[in-house]
Amino acid sequence: MNPVATILQPNETNLRDMRKSLRLGQLVAIPTETVYGLAANALDEDACAKIFGAKERPSEDPLICHVPDFEALQRYCETNETAAQLAAAFWPGPLTFVLPKKPIIPDIVTAGLDSVAVRSPSHPVFRQLIEGCDFPLAAPSANPFSYISPTLALHVQANLGDRIETILDGGPCELGVESTIVDLRNPASPQILRYGALPAESIENALKCRIARPDTEHTPVAIAPGTLPKHYSPRTPLDLRTSPILEDELQISDRNTAYLLLRKPPHSLSNHIHWLSEQGELDAIAARLFAKLRELDTGGYQKIVAEEAPELGLGLAINERLRRAAFRT
Ligand code: AMP
Ligand code: MG
Repeated sequence: MNPVATILQPNETNLRDMRKSLRLGQLVAIPTETVYGLAANALDEDACAKIFGAKERPSEDPLICHVPDFEALQRYCETNETAAQLAAAFWPGPLTFVLPKKPIIPDIVTAGLDSVAVRSPSHPVFRQLIEGCDFPLAAPSANPFSYISPTLALHVQANLGDRIETILDGGPCELGVESTIVDLRNPASPQILRYGALPAESIENALKCRIARPDTEHTPVAIAPGTLPKHYSPRTPLDLRTSPILEDELQISDRNTAYLLLRKPPHSLSNHIHWLSEQGELDAIAARLFAKLRELDTGGYQKIVAEEAPELGLGLAINERLRRAAFRT
């Protein structure tokens, strides 16, 4: 049997060992407030190559670099006033900036682009780890390419346990969907490249202007590489409903199909009916979405039918994940 990665608690000894592994060019899985990441020293080309290998991620899909703060960001990219303003408002937190890169960032990280994506996560365990590192951490989600992102250390162990040695445990991820990515290369016209855990409206309120939203059909590959139609996908076929699933349908529904509702139904029904929140709270839905999809994917169902969220705030990020998860070629 292949060795299984050890889940380590975040004490000083383990954190010191992990920093040492990272410095030696090894991969470790780490918690963030969005999802678990598969981290390597972002300044070490060979270490970053291992990320692509372990995830089977295509080399044209660039990595996000993680830093402790805005001061550190300035070592790795050219910055501007809009970035400073957004960092003051939202860092540390689930907002990633795309900015012109400095030569110190290897091409493998950015898939050859002249820009780099950078964020500063708020998870206390992540912060403890990175504060003792003198390099940024390149870290995509710690899952095989195109499968459901991990929100628990156990998810990482289940998928990548035979490919990495250690997973740092930070408990369940509080936000549960990836960061929002904003292109700030032109500070006068920021553009959201990917919806995520920070709602677009919050960014607009901070900047006091409307900003361009992702055009999921037409965004050129050169701007948002890696945003492929199929992603975050369970193996079980997933169908989406744009309007609420009515109780009448649930009453007579096939038990081989899992129903995934946004909110708890008023009456208790059979155990093939699942829900993501008590009352439709979008933050609870986002936080549970990936774990629930994993649970249903291993629950022996022939199909999953899920309700889409309202098209605002966090609902935009939730629906983007659901639509990619449902995409079939
Ligand atoms: P993740 O897979 O969640 O780590 O997010 C990585 C995504 O960030 C990529 O798939 C790209 O869509 C985006 N990204 C990373 N670097 C850049 C960049 N330099 N320019 C535009 N988008 C980027
Ligand atoms: Mg990912």
